[in-house]
Amino acid sequence: MIISVDFVKSKFDEFNQQMFDGKLSSLPIKLSSARTYLGQLRFRRKRKLFGGWKYCDFQLIISNKIQIEKQVVEDTILHEMIHYSILSNQLMDSSSHGKLFRSKMLDLNQRFNRNISIRHRFTKEEQDRDVEHRLHYICVSKFIDGKLGITIAAHARLLYLWDALFAIPKISETDWFVSHNPFFNRFPRSLKPKVYKITEKDLRDNLADAYRLRRVGDKIYIIK
Ligand SMILES: [Zn+2]
Repeated sequence: MIISVDFVKSKFDEFNQQMFDGKLSSLPIKLSSARTYLGQLRFRRKRKLFGGWKYCDFQLIISNKIQIEKQVVEDTILHEMIHYSILSNQLMDSSSHGKLFRSKMLDLNQRFNRNISIRHRFTKEEQDRDVEHRLHYICVSKFIDGKLGITIAAHARLLYLWDALFAIPKISETDWFVSHNPFFNRFPRSLKPKVYKITEKDLRDNLADAYRLRRVGDKIYIIK
């Protein structure tokens, strides 16, 4: 569905009455084009005079980058509303999705037949809807056991990751490519040498029109 601020606002109000006894005060709602999350509760933390924190300046952010079903958007709003109800009451949870969060989540899922989760795993269909053409610097790593991995490097970290990935003992070989294929949008841009699993078929199918990169000193060249 196409997400608008008005939609998020009206759902917030509806769910607030229905599931939070109307106790949540309204907060600024914004859309973002992030691929790395569906929703986010932003806030500031102020140190209290006698220890502890005060949470304030809440904002609800919903990403409209990836097309997802209405039901999933609603559950994302609810997920963030649970965070909001905990933090705006200045309660301390046992972790970021701790006991308080989980018990409220289970309660809403049961009573209102929702499907709120700790983390949304994008389905392949959702990921395939992201067709924006962006430039990807791709490192394909081959592990000693023959498995393959992939890292999409943030541009500013290209040289760093070039060395860092090669230095991982379990990796026997690294190969670098550049591609515009939207398939690679599904991987986060890495600042750190983190490697994601990928099948040989997915690699072969999606690297077909990629160019290989070569490094000479601190310069990277595209081999055409
Ligand atoms: Zn969360």
